[in-house]
Amino acid sequence: MKIICVGRNYAAHIQELDSERPSSPVLFLKPDSAVVLKNNPFIIPEFSQNIHYEVEILVKINKIGKYIDRKFAHKYYDEIGLGIDFTARDIQNHLKEKGLPWELAKAFDGSAVIGNFVSKTQFADLNDINFSLEQNGNAVQTGNTSYMLWKIDELIEYISKYFTVKIGDVIFTGTPSGVGQVHPDDVLKGYIESDEMFSIKVK
Ligand code: ZN
Repeated sequence: MKIICVGRNYAAHIQELDSERPSSPVLFLKPDSAVVLKNNPFIIPEFSQNIHYEVEILVKINKIGKYIDRKFAHKYYDEIGLGIDFTARDIQNHLKEKGLPWELAKAFDGSAVIGNFVSKTQFADLNDINFSLEQNGNAVQTGNTSYMLWKIDELIEYISKYFTVKIGDVIFTGTPSGVGQVHPDDVLKGYIESDEMFSIKVK
């Protein structure tokens, strides 16, 4: 499986990082080796002094597809989840300055937390899902999918022009504002509405 991530999909997050608002979705990939195995902690890598959490709504692809029209995109996923796109912000800032690719900052081992998935039918409107992240019991990020610049079906249309999507692929749909640094012994818990979707310890 592959992980397809969307950058800069929430206006308030673009502002907090002082980034430019893109005219089309910003995409990057994480390999399957980026996924934190179930019940394992996130281990802060020695190469970064500033790892950030980014909580994101996930979409799991259920069918192979290429050039998917947004009208039919809903047929390519049944489940919605929540995860963390861990980012080595110090390395990313350096790479951005130099105009280099982001993989070292975004695709390293452990950089993808994939929590539980639930059926999309449990949501009345996929463009109105509340989600949040708690760091040691304090709410640090809250988001609602209505604020996404590109909605799920538009993302699938755009992504599938470039990458064939396959069963089990996961899309990280971008993070709202409130990103911040993680520290050893942190506990990060993610919620969709009031349901806990993951809990992970930092080491
Ligand atoms: Zn992200």
